[in-house]
Amino acid sequence: MVFRVIPVDPFDLVIFGGTGDLAQRKIYPALYRRYHSGQMPEDARIIGAARSEIGTAEFHQMLRDSIATYIEEETRDADAIEGFLNHCSYLRLDARGEDGWRELAEAVRPGVVRAFYLSVGPRLFGELAERLNIWEIADADSRIVVEKPFGHDLETARALNATLAQHFHEHQIYRIDHYLGKETVQNLMAVRFANMLFEPLWNARNVDHIQITVAETVGVGGRAEYYDRAGAMRDMVQNHMMQLLCLIAMEPPYAFEPDAVRDEKLKVIRALDPVLPEDIVRGQYEAEDGQGSYVDDVENPESRTESFVALKVSVSNWRWKGAPFYLRTGKRMRERTSEIAVVFKDPPHSIFGEENAQKPNVLVIRLQPNEGINLRVTIKEPGPGGMRLVEVPLDMSFKEALGPDAGEIPDAYERLIMDVIRGNQTLFMRGDEVEAAWAWIDPIIARWDNVRDRPRPYQPGGSGPEDALMLMHRDGRRWREVKA
Ligand code: NAP
Repeated sequence: MVFRVIPVDPFDLVIFGGTGDLAQRKIYPALYRRYHSGQMPEDARIIGAARSEIGTAEFHQMLRDSIATYIEEETRDADAIEGFLNHCSYLRLDARGEDGWRELAEAVRPGVVRAFYLSVGPRLFGELAERLNIWEIADADSRIVVEKPFGHDLETARALNATLAQHFHEHQIYRIDHYLGKETVQNLMAVRFANMLFEPLWNARNVDHIQITVAETVGVGGRAEYYDRAGAMRDMVQNHMMQLLCLIAMEPPYAFEPDAVRDEKLKVIRALDPVLPEDIVRGQYEAEDGQGSYVDDVENPESRTESFVALKVSVSNWRWKGAPFYLRTGKRMRERTSEIAVVFKDPPHSIFGEENAQKPNVLVIRLQPNEGINLRVTIKEPGPGGMRLVEVPLDMSFKEALGPDAGEIPDAYERLIMDVIRGNQTLFMRGDEVEAAWAWIDPIIARWDNVRDRPRPYQPGGSGPEDALMLMHRDGRRWREVKA
């Protein structure tokens, strides 16, 4: 099977923050891959915009470096790189002043899709959005793309939404949560809604519980300052993990269309029960093997920010009442892995005797590494000797299943940027979804602040604090062992 490349319309894509880390690590490599795959139209134009005084030659060198660093060797091709650079130019522009705006107004073309990627800190969103309008650079069909963090709490998220709404309609705003661009996350919807097999079982009558794990082996790294203000709850749970939870829990939308999908996700967030203090465990990694502890890494001995959080979440609706969702995420864990495990109930009665206690079926949706799906089923152990049962995985890696000719699965940013050009918002968060997520998260964080809660220490290279294991054990359940 070969992936089809579906052409997109000609576009002008302006990347504000065009010299920044995100642009160099994610946006330019994603655009280069789309060029390399043949998806970029002849007259597509990419304009990097920032204050730095660099010329085209330096900008092109920056792009070459970014491709050399972040693109795998087999996709790096000297002719393709030069061809890609022909689409890219740089404009010196100040979001807070008038420098560069006239030039930008003259550079964007009528009659092509105009997209503006705000790859800058959120404090600049308002000024950029205002100037795009004052200079009549944005038209009624233009799109703007914004990155997480989308607010620090409900109040700031509302303020950001209000700022953007002064200049753009909701159908023009693309809030990126790159998890939604992952192949497996969309496959989650395909598995649920394009197969008859799972949907009849997808409820609390048949599902015992669901586990969502996002584990990283790295510490806070270069993002210490940002991370210490955010913590795992804001950095991972409010956005990525809640989005995964929504896709698992939502009702079938009437169509795979932006508002149909987002309406269903919003209903899930609104159905979440408040989380009880005993249903949350926070942790902070300790020092080990010459590597610093969390408080060393953020250079703040008093920090009470969590680098790990595990929580039990209940969705109060007809489908899910009684089948909890357990979420956990952390840094400096044993393996780098993200997965969703749907753990089904035990069969009501075993006809194979007590020695053959049956294990529940588990459907695992792996986001990384090795994106794929694994269904654990029970079969008869081969050979004579009576009926002995054994568990085996029906394991499918997308790469293997689709074959070597399928090519590389596009990275999340490639898909999402092309969706912006196509004008498809299905995989982007709507403003009310973001606000509803904060409205659920805010009281949890406020309680920690009120009681001056301290996260539990945990050993790096493991599964987080002991108490996180107890969160499951006390319910007669256990976390799946996370293996890459
Ligand atoms: P960064 O490396 O600090 O880059 C910021 C960019 O903004 C630079 O290109 C800077 O260029 C430009 N800039 C700053 N002030 C400006 C002004 N007044 N006018 C015009 N341009 C200005 O930040 P980043 O890491 O790329 O992050 C960008 C956004 O993405 C942030 O909202 C961040 O939270 C979000 N994000 C980043 C990552 C990541 O992995 N980096 C991940 C998720 C989300 P000049 O100094 O040349 O003007």
